[in-house]
Amino acid sequence: MAYDSENIFAKILRGDIPCNKFFEDDHVLAFHDIAPQAPTHILVIPKGAYTSYDDFAMNASDEEILAFTRAIGKIAAAAGVVEDGYRLISNTREHGRQDVPHLHVHIIGGKKLGLMLPRD
Ligand code: AMP
Repeated sequence: MAYDSENIFAKILRGDIPCNKFFEDDHVLAFHDIAPQAPTHILVIPKGAYTSYDDFAMNASDEEILAFTRAIGKIAAAAGVVEDGYRLISNTREHGRQDVPHLHVHIIGGKKLGLMLPRD
């Protein structure tokens, strides 16, 4: 899947549209989800042009992968969800119901969450 540089997170990374920033370093940006589904709902994205977690895992540099993984830990701690727990989600392509085609991990917490998936 080719990377679409007009996706909304690419625009946030370029500064074309604003975000409610939570964390930033050389490789990673995190910001509050615009439509939070729990008291804590933060999106963590790599600055590189990766469409999905599998794309990132296969094609990113070791430095980018290390930075992204460490950032998720730091952000969860800074958001105050580590003790009570939280959920990491990375929806991927059509079956995963991914809306924005730039890799993002949702950090969701701040309350006891429902079932991982609706039973249908
Ligand atoms: P997904 O369905 O996993 O691709 O998630 C995309 C997420 O991006 C959704 O939870 C949206 O609410 C969120 N979102 C879309 N546009 C923005 C934006 N401009 N700023 C922050 N979050 C956004």
